[in-house]
Amino acid sequence: MAEKTIAAIASASGEGALGVIRISGENAISIADSVFSAVSGKSLESLKGYTAAYGVIKDNDTRLDDAVATVFRNPHSYTGEDVVEFSVHGGSIMLRSVLRLILSRGAILAEAGEFTKRAFLNGKLDLTKAESIMGLISARSEAELRLSRAAHSGKVSSKIAEIEADLVAADASVAAFSDYPDEDIEDLNPENFLRMLRNAEKTLHKMLRDYDAGKILSEGIRTAIVGKPNVGKSTLMNMLSGEERSIVTNVAGTTRDIIEETVTIGDITLRLADTAGIHETVDTVESIGVKLAKERIETSQLVLAVFDSTSALNKEDLELLEAVKTKNTIVIINKTDLESVIDKSVFKDMRVVEVSAKQGIGYDELKEEIIEISGTNNLSADSAVLIGERQRACAERALDGVEEAINALQTGCTMDAVGVCIDDAISALFELTGKRVTNEVTDEIFRRFCVGK
Ligand code: GDP
Repeated sequence: MAEKTIAAIASASGEGALGVIRISGENAISIADSVFSAVSGKSLESLKGYTAAYGVIKDNDTRLDDAVATVFRNPHSYTGEDVVEFSVHGGSIMLRSVLRLILSRGAILAEAGEFTKRAFLNGKLDLTKAESIMGLISARSEAELRLSRAAHSGKVSSKIAEIEADLVAADASVAAFSDYPDEDIEDLNPENFLRMLRNAEKTLHKMLRDYDAGKILSEGIRTAIVGKPNVGKSTLMNMLSGEERSIVTNVAGTTRDIIEETVTIGDITLRLADTAGIHETVDTVESIGVKLAKERIETSQLVLAVFDSTSALNKEDLELLEAVKTKNTIVIINKTDLESVIDKSVFKDMRVVEVSAKQGIGYDELKEEIIEISGTNNLSADSAVLIGERQRACAERALDGVEEAINALQTGCTMDAVGVCIDDAISALFELTGKRVTNEVTDEIFRRFCVGK
């Protein structure tokens, strides 16, 4: 299929030392030649791939700028097509005037992500790598960049290929078994199918867990600090953030509004809200705070439930404990610099850290618990972490298929039924990497890219 030749500004907008305009498609080189004269006198058409030429960009007799043109010849280019990249002076007006000229010579303006979409359609990369490119560009932290790099280097593709291989082998064996049930072929026994399926299940489970941890690394973890008034929530928050931001006072109930702030603990960003205590009250301003605190528990990924070691637990503390028990909670027993009277046995089976927020004692233990609970310590720099909700949903569908297949095998369903479940799982993986994907899904993915990528 002969695609039209596309062009776009590939560098960021605003002023810069250099700006890049990229042209890709069948006529990329002839269009570039029509606006560019190399100092050497050679046409770009006469150059080999991976060659650069210095010259000028001209609109008939008007000189627009000096430029370096780099020629890439299909298939050895980003898109797999003929490509020319012009480096010119990097001002928005300059870049736009050069782009306008190129468009007037027959190129059409590229859509968002169209260069990468062409690379995908030409088999230069699969969808996991394509989506990692946006991750590389839009990374907001070192950790996010590391994960995108790993995906870009093919870690996710090869993990998925491993799972696929297990499933395809299981599928073939299941088919052979249902065709020749009476043959005594060594590999064809349900124990073997089960082993392959369990392998796939384990890897998919790990990928989904790592996805959640990766998301925590890139987006931070929504965290609520809750507890009765005066237990030391604001002081704790100050210990974590190292800054006196919230109002700290020994009059109960003065932290009224939820104040959002972020705190970085190792690689993890806690998105903290200092909340008013869970505490029935008639004060309307305070009640708004309490309502928010309860909502915040519901919507948090991590709850730091603070208790005061110097007073015995009362009804409100126990109520709070009840409210946070089903959440990812770390119980913080505060004020350990003072004499303790609290009965710690009620926190049995929970994660508990004892601190003195005021004196900064217990910070390291708390940090360790937070890292542990976030699951991020299982992620290494080269972990194969899925990127984006689309990939996660595909992996989850694949896992559902594998689990159904295991279930079907164990409950004595027909081999055909087992095969159907495995096929579902395989097709979810094909969609994940783009081996089999609809045009709509492809369009949707690349629409999220920036123009020029
Ligand atoms: P909040 O209402 O839960 O936010 O509690 P605050 O952080 O305002 O603390 C209430 C009082 O307890 C303040 O006087 C703090 O100085 C004091 N406090 C907080 N943490 C500690 C601690 O670890 N040790 C001691 N001795 N006092 C603390």
